[in-house]
Amino acid sequence: MPFWHVLGAGSLGSLWATRLARAGVPVRLILRDSARLKAYAAKGGLTLSEQGQRQTFDITAQTLDDPQPIQRLLVACKAYDAQSAVASVASRLTPGADVLLLQNGLGSQEAVAASLPDLFPPPRCIFVSSTEGAFRDDDFSVVFAGQGANWLGEAHQGLAPVWLDELVAADIPHQWGPDILERLWRKLALNCAINPLTVLHGCRNGELQKRAAEVTALCDELVAVLECCGQPKAAVGLHQQVDQVIRATAANYSSMHQDVAQGRRTEISYLLGYLCAAAARHGCQAPLLDQLRERLIDHLKAQGLPSD
Ligand code: NAP
Repeated sequence: MPFWHVLGAGSLGSLWATRLARAGVPVRLILRDSARLKAYAAKGGLTLSEQGQRQTFDITAQTLDDPQPIQRLLVACKAYDAQSAVASVASRLTPGADVLLLQNGLGSQEAVAASLPDLFPPPRCIFVSSTEGAFRDDDFSVVFAGQGANWLGEAHQGLAPVWLDELVAADIPHQWGPDILERLWRKLALNCAINPLTVLHGCRNGELQKRAAEVTALCDELVAVLECCGQPKAAVGLHQQVDQVIRATAANYSSMHQDVAQGRRTEISYLLGYLCAAAARHGCQAPLLDQLRERLIDHLKAQGLPSD
């Protein structure tokens, strides 16, 4: 059975690695350097907390420059790190290797795909849209915070891979389908309708219910942009779903709000930034989204955070 090489032992990478290891699936963690390898060794493994239970898995880790060939790579870095991280292990990929991309938003997937080595058969890029939730409560320790789904697929609609059975064994919810791009666009639009406003208003998701006019105007523009960018299916019922997400997650702070509050870089370039650039490329007017992006960039700069 080929190894799953998990690149990035952060929240989602750890969530996948520990569940695979728990099912007896062979896993290797790829850490950025020997300092991180040492820190990992000191912890004695990767810990998963689920429903109050903590369990540590002694998963073997290696650095980017380890010589072991990679047949199956799970890229679990942030969108802004994905391309350079994959480039660091590109020479280890075997012909026909599977490269699974867990990144939120759009743009990083294309960047990774374009930089994969020229092999025959070529590496296969698989996009994942995840609604599972996880956070780190300590270095190399992850809390499984929200049940969800993982939608998997290829831009060019390939056959379902045989290793989906290993996800079944590991109890990782998943669905393989032909509509992964539509799902990524839809999730991107939901994010653009909610997350930037929660950052600018410094509020939980639920407080956007008091700003219904602002949300409605944004949704109307988002629908027009999706249609103009050739993603009409991702636009269907968008406003209703935005309202539903706001209600269902009323007590939560959005991921972008959490990033800003904790002084972390956001993925703005792969979310609102990507959407505004796509609208401009298609000659589609998006004045509200452009203005929202400018306000968000000003806000990030004022907080001393990167605005890209
Ligand atoms: P995270 O906790 O910040 O983890 C990212 C990990 O990537 C870190 O451990 C980081 O290493 C590692 N990394 C970055 N560059 C690397 C390199 N060159 N070599 C090796 N490791 C490298 O991020 P996350 O929350 O898991 O998010 C990953 C992606 O999933 C994001 O696009 C996010 O939007 C998406 N997502 C997350 C969730 C969630 O609940 N967390 C849900 C859905 C989607 P260090 O620890 O050394 O910095």
